[in-house]
Amino acid sequence: MSYTALYRNFRPLKFSDMVGQDHITRTLRNQVISNRVGHAYLFNGGRGTGKTTSAKILARVVNCLNPQDGEPCNECEICKEILEGSLTDVVEMDAASNNSVEDIRSIRDEVNFLPTKAKYRVYIIDEVHMLSTGAFNALLKTLEEPPEHVKFILATTEPQKLPTTILSRCQRFDFKKIPDDDIIKRLKIICSEANIKIDDDALKVIAVLSEGHMRDAISILERCSQENVENIKVEEVKELVGLPKLEYISRLAKSIIEYNVIEALEVIDDVINDGKDLYNYLWEVVKYFKDILVYKATSNLKLYSEEELNEIKNLSDKTEETRLLNIIYELSDLENDLKWSSQKTIMFQIGIIKACRKAQVSSEKLEIPVEVKQIEKTQKPEKKEPISNNIKPPASSTTTTSNNTDSAWKKVIDVLKRNGKIRLYTALINTRINEVNDLIWEVEFPNGLTSFNQKILEDVNNKNELIKEILKITGKEVHLRYKDLKNVSQAKENRPSSPISDLGIDINIID
Ligand SMILES: [Zn+2]
Repeated sequence: MSYTALYRNFRPLKFSDMVGQDHITRTLRNQVISNRVGHAYLFNGGRGTGKTTSAKILARVVNCLNPQDGEPCNECEICKEILEGSLTDVVEMDAASNNSVEDIRSIRDEVNFLPTKAKYRVYIIDEVHMLSTGAFNALLKTLEEPPEHVKFILATTEPQKLPTTILSRCQRFDFKKIPDDDIIKRLKIICSEANIKIDDDALKVIAVLSEGHMRDAISILERCSQENVENIKVEEVKELVGLPKLEYISRLAKSIIEYNVIEALEVIDDVINDGKDLYNYLWEVVKYFKDILVYKATSNLKLYSEEELNEIKNLSDKTEETRLLNIIYELSDLENDLKWSSQKTIMFQIGIIKACRKAQVSSEKLEIPVEVKQIEKTQKPEKKEPISNNIKPPASSTTTTSNNTDSAWKKVIDVLKRNGKIRLYTALINTRINEVNDLIWEVEFPNGLTSFNQKILEDVNNKNELIKEILKITGKEVHLRYKDLKNVSQAKENRPSSPISDLGIDINIID
């Protein structure tokens, strides 16, 4: 584990310098003041939440020659030697690398001797859950009958891995994730002492990114401060942790919302020229649209500056919730298509053009819901017309399916409906089967296979469900293939034209 210079230099020296763990530091100080310090502690909590810092402060204050108000003076001979790491009575041990029985036995032998200089021998054992079983047993013996002059402070991120016999002999303190505001408070102190200039918005982003771990927050701050900029801004923080420039993301979102195809394609060019990965970029764009949606519902978002929030508010005001949802669905589909495509740039451009256009012709989006409405109708008891009345699959010239297979397939689809597998059922409406051989069934989609439905059909659980039902009805364990007939014929018609003229999906057969 590497500690940053900032983290070392600005490790709190007193309980009162720590942030976000008041419930713990208050209790520990009170114990010191009232002379009720226990002989074994377990500090539990995520990395960078202050476990080791607290352990070190506690080790000093119990030995300090001049403690004040439950805090070490950090000035006396003992405090200074502990701070320098030269006092042998305070032992820090990382159980991740010293986890053998011998390591713990050496402690057991040692504890019988009086401390050389300080009042107590203090053992701080980090990552204590890493000890071997034998080492735990050895430790337990010491914890059972500890000499008066010994204190143990065990720290762990995974208390569930500790034997209950150990747990029951320790006072346990659970360190919480540190709230963003407390992280910001501490970062501000460090910045002012280390003479680092940084915007408040940038601090906020660091706090959010650190997810409650002070060490991570300080490490991000330190890396930013090495970038040789006079004043650290949000952009530098995001660039450093690898978030794509928000400008690219919000520009594309704005173009889609405003149906501005030309601007959208320009942003994509900029992103490509900047060498950014399109797949990651799209992921961020989808996330951004989700954030706009969240903002619409809650007016609350983290990770954005005031200025960025204004832009999000602006975009949110311009768009209906249903349209935002449609865009998110569509871009998620594109994300999926992109994964399989060898021509990512073209696919991406086509997908974005579609997102800009489809939004204009909103009735197009109704295509699928019409089918869904039909299902809903048939599910109501007062209307008992069978679904097959509404669906007349076009006759196929290629199909070699026997009547038996045909009716078996209908049964399978019916069972899916009855079992409430509505998404899977919807995806298979209007399909028919081409029985390639005894082992392979090809599901044909005469009206095309949307990538939304493709995703449903590729889902492992759904696929297994389908195969299971076929097995029940036909007694055959078949392998399924999906064939998009619409795009096969379209592709043939459009072969000489550019892919942009064909806004369909370029996957014909999915195995
Ligand atoms: Zn002292």
